[in-house]
Amino acid sequence: MAATTKGGDFLIKESNAAQVFISEEFNEEQQMMLQMCRDFLNTEILPHLDRIDAQEDGLMQKLLDKAGELGLLSVSLPEAYGGFGKDFNTSLLITEELGKGHSFAVALSAHTGIGTLPILYFGTEAQKQKYIPKLGSGELKASYCLTEPGSGSDALSAKTKAVLSADGKHYSINGQKMWITNAGFADVFVVFAQIDGDKFTGFIVDKGTPGLSLGNEEHKMGIKGSSTRQVFFSDCEVPVENILGEIGKGHLIAFNILNIGRIKLAAAALGASKRVNTLAIQYAKERQQFKMPIANFGAIQHKLAEMAVRIYATESSLYRAGMAIHHAEELLKAAGKTEAEALLGAAQDFAIECAILKVAGSETLDYVSDEGVQIYGGYGFSADYPMDRSYRDSRINRIFEGTNEINRMLVLDMYMKKAMKGEIDLFSAAMAVQKELMGIPEFGEEDQGFLAAEKKVLQNLKKAAIMTAGAAAQKFQQKLSQEQEILMNLADMTINIYMAESALLRTEKLASLKGETAVALQIDLAKTYLNDAVDRVNTSGKNAIVAMAEGDELKMMLMGLKRFTKATPYNTKEARRRIASSLIAADQYMF
Ligand SMILES: Cc1cc2nc3c(=O)[nH]c(=O)nc-3n(C[C@H](O)[C@H](O)[C@H](O)COP(=O)(O)OP(=O)(O)OC[C@H]3O[C@@H](n4cnc5c(N)ncnc54)[C@H](O)[C@@H]3O)c2cc1C
Repeated sequence: MAATTKGGDFLIKESNAAQVFISEEFNEEQQMMLQMCRDFLNTEILPHLDRIDAQEDGLMQKLLDKAGELGLLSVSLPEAYGGFGKDFNTSLLITEELGKGHSFAVALSAHTGIGTLPILYFGTEAQKQKYIPKLGSGELKASYCLTEPGSGSDALSAKTKAVLSADGKHYSINGQKMWITNAGFADVFVVFAQIDGDKFTGFIVDKGTPGLSLGNEEHKMGIKGSSTRQVFFSDCEVPVENILGEIGKGHLIAFNILNIGRIKLAAAALGASKRVNTLAIQYAKERQQFKMPIANFGAIQHKLAEMAVRIYATESSLYRAGMAIHHAEELLKAAGKTEAEALLGAAQDFAIECAILKVAGSETLDYVSDEGVQIYGGYGFSADYPMDRSYRDSRINRIFEGTNEINRMLVLDMYMKKAMKGEIDLFSAAMAVQKELMGIPEFGEEDQGFLAAEKKVLQNLKKAAIMTAGAAAQKFQQKLSQEQEILMNLADMTINIYMAESALLRTEKLASLKGETAVALQIDLAKTYLNDAVDRVNTSGKNAIVAMAEGDELKMMLMGLKRFTKATPYNTKEARRRIASSLIAADQYMF
């Protein structure tokens, strides 16, 4: 399958269903790996969540060791360093399944992601040989130290300093890092510090290095089993061989690793969302009120189904983006790039999609967990029932790996940068939409193909977003970054479009594989998401337009928005009832 897309171009181009990957295409080997993760979760993690959250001494390390023995820490590591060399979507699939594991999932993700990947992608050969096989087996456990008390979102303003010794053999690091996941038991700390005050640089610091010390465990709202501590550096001497990447290029490590971290966070959030949906379905069937299971009530069915709708759209988007990254990676390898350069380059090209997924995945999980609590009623508020933990553990996802505000702004920032560089022809697309608005609407023959009306609606939503983004870029130019409210609106339009399109494409591809009648429920899921996305795009568009246009321009843009967000309403009440009935019959989320 050839890669035909470039990151971000979904907004200005039509995508082809045949070219997207859908989760129904995972092969037998991938399904077997999934089953292994499931068995591991069901035996080693889920029965012990209370012990994990109590931070029982040594338990998390033992669980990571077991995960290492099963190969779960080295799925995507290259075979040359003892890994299994699996492709990107396989690693997302494993992350999704293990994402059901609450605090364990966070410890595992921090270890395999932000802890291990900087060394794999930016380390010297000697560093890779020394650390990667042991990180892959779990013998060593990793953490990532970027954030400081005074620098979170503004990570590059970190104050931790590194000064070269007179003999040129080591750097002396002084400073303080905040909120470091796995710090309590980590053997390896990937640390960022400023050399000569302004050369932001990565270092590998081993546990036990004199001058490295830890704060107490933070008392957190959720993910209580995950170790989170401050890390202090006081004249901490690190050999020059432990510099990670180039001096002054630490930002490349920090930002590139975050692209991958963001899409992986969406995968973990997806797994957690599915688990909450399943628990809520099972509880709603058991819980009797007014002499019947609460699952019989329309209001509860609406919630169960809406959870599934959002999960379906998130999953469709995740594996579509994952495969696009994989294809881009293969192309870069074919062009002579190393494995590391290829994956980083591919993730960089699809950084818009990674940011979209970070926001969408975390917000789907927050929605699903919140409604999970509601379905459990008073028992949802009880610490003796599972929703309490799901609700609390969900919340962090909107904060770390770049807050959702930062990620929303990044979506637009990256679009504008790609447009300025000519990588995405946003401005021609905006001009074409403007021209269309001035002309007489075409009332041509309606396409009768499968989901044709929905595809038309989606095409128009893209025009609404392009029109609004184009006008914002023209009006504010270099000052657009100061119009954050408008950027949030534009990001929301873009996110809704990517999710709706992914759900439609998946359904279309599935229909081509199984026949239209076999995917009636998936059609309901995709149409319900799209129906509501139209209203959300309209509201965001309206808010952006009234904030930047006046007089005739305002009138014309509002007219354009109305035209581009017109859709025949879908009977989502009946669709949700059908979806809920099938979830209830299956006793779990099963799409
Ligand atoms: C449990 C936990 C685990 C973590 N693990 C790690 C780890 O392993 N390693 C690590 O390095 N870090 C880690 N972090 C840190 C995390 O990445 C930061 O908390 C996050 O990046 C936000 O930074 P901050 O907390 O300083 O918030 P701030 O940056 O102060 O943000 C506060 C609010 O202001 C908003 N804001 C900030 N800047 C802007 C802006 N320019 N425009 C608009 N709004 C803005 C934010 O969106 C947010 O709503 C962890 C945090 C927690 C809580």
